[in-house]
Amino acid sequence: MPHDLVVRSRRAVLPDGTRAAAVAVSGPCIAAVEDYGATLEAGRDVDLGDLALLPGLVDSHVHVNEPGRTEWEGFATATRAAAAGGVTTICDMPLNSLPPTTTVAALAEKRAAAAGKCWVDVAFWGGAVPGNEASLRPLHEAGVVGFKCFLLDSGVPEFPPLDVAGLRSALGALAAVDALLIAHAEDAAEIKPASGRDFGAFVASRPPIAERRAIEKVIAAAAATGARAHIVHLSAAECVAMIAGAKAAGVRLTAETCPHYLYFAAGQVPDGATEFKSCPPIRDSVNREALWRGLEAGVIDCVVSDHSPCPPELKALGSGDFGAAWGGIASLQLGLSAVWTVARRRGRTLDDVARWMASAPAALAGLPAKGLLAVGGDADLVAFDPDETYVVDPARLRHRHPVTPYAGRTLTGRVRQTWLRGIPLLEGEGGTPVGRLLERG
Ligand SMILES: [Zn+2]
Repeated sequence: MPHDLVVRSRRAVLPDGTRAAAVAVSGPCIAAVEDYGATLEAGRDVDLGDLALLPGLVDSHVHVNEPGRTEWEGFATATRAAAAGGVTTICDMPLNSLPPTTTVAALAEKRAAAAGKCWVDVAFWGGAVPGNEASLRPLHEAGVVGFKCFLLDSGVPEFPPLDVAGLRSALGALAAVDALLIAHAEDAAEIKPASGRDFGAFVASRPPIAERRAIEKVIAAAAATGARAHIVHLSAAECVAMIAGAKAAGVRLTAETCPHYLYFAAGQVPDGATEFKSCPPIRDSVNREALWRGLEAGVIDCVVSDHSPCPPELKALGSGDFGAAWGGIASLQLGLSAVWTVARRRGRTLDDVARWMASAPAALAGLPAKGLLAVGGDADLVAFDPDETYVVDPARLRHRHPVTPYAGRTLTGRVRQTWLRGIPLLEGEGGTPVGRLLERG
């Protein structure tokens, strides 16, 4: 039987390395991976030549904020940005939407809000908050990919943090069903209030020890319960050694970092430039180098965006006050280019990037059909020019609000086409959203 689509590339990034190959697609799945010049009958045969063929990226850390704060972002805009950035699956965070995804009813509301609007596939995190322990198992059974918790104020009142006892208790409950807990790990006791335009003062107000103290709590609770735990958006590179030690000791721990921590350094951030505000903060260049080494050594498992936009007014762009600004950087569309720009300079390969940004986050979220160019998997494909450079123009971003610290930066590596389950996504503005709402595999 002829295939629906064949995509050929001299640089196909396969699970066992990059080589020339032809990927044959039947229906929504990869049906075969053959030699580049193989004779394959297909409805459509696309030869990318020297363009790289990557697996569709999986971004396991995205705040879509719909329903409830749809003026901040939304499924239609976030998933358009994802497709443009080569991301074919996002996992939506349980907070900043209203209601937060802390009950099965709230998950149903979220799924209803997303239905029919998504240009890429969307999976959902549940939330672990004080008082919702009875909802954890039903949410797990309803297909969430795991549970997010905070260990300090989340910034929104409807998603309060867990204390140490609550963390242990939640991890104990999740261990019983082998569900994953992901934690925003900063310790409020180590954080000082910050205000004003001085970025250095803002960074100093959230020192590395705030991350260290919180990660210690997560490691202790994971060790005590046997549960799987994951540190989101690691910024303080001094914690890499502690995470490596916990892993070596058999604690079921993983960690992610984000493109902005790998691309920017605090010294480049002008005072008052609140588009750079995230929590934890972008730190100095020595820290950035150490984060890269932690990633290259395999201690940090994934690189995902923490795409967390808000309306420009909430970014306090006028006053430049780091105390008043919402902490969050929107980079769903730019993460691949930002990471590749630095990775290639460091002699890393597209295999590394595909592992950090596709297969590792897919494994983290329990989505076995995603993140690999492998027979039987979903035909989520990205045509990527690893040599093309471009200057970031906010007007070309598909996010709801084009506020970005990458404005004017020259990035290397551009997405030319994205296919979701064999369907091309970047051919004009027409068409209907073909993304599906996923459950944990
Ligand atoms: Zn986040």
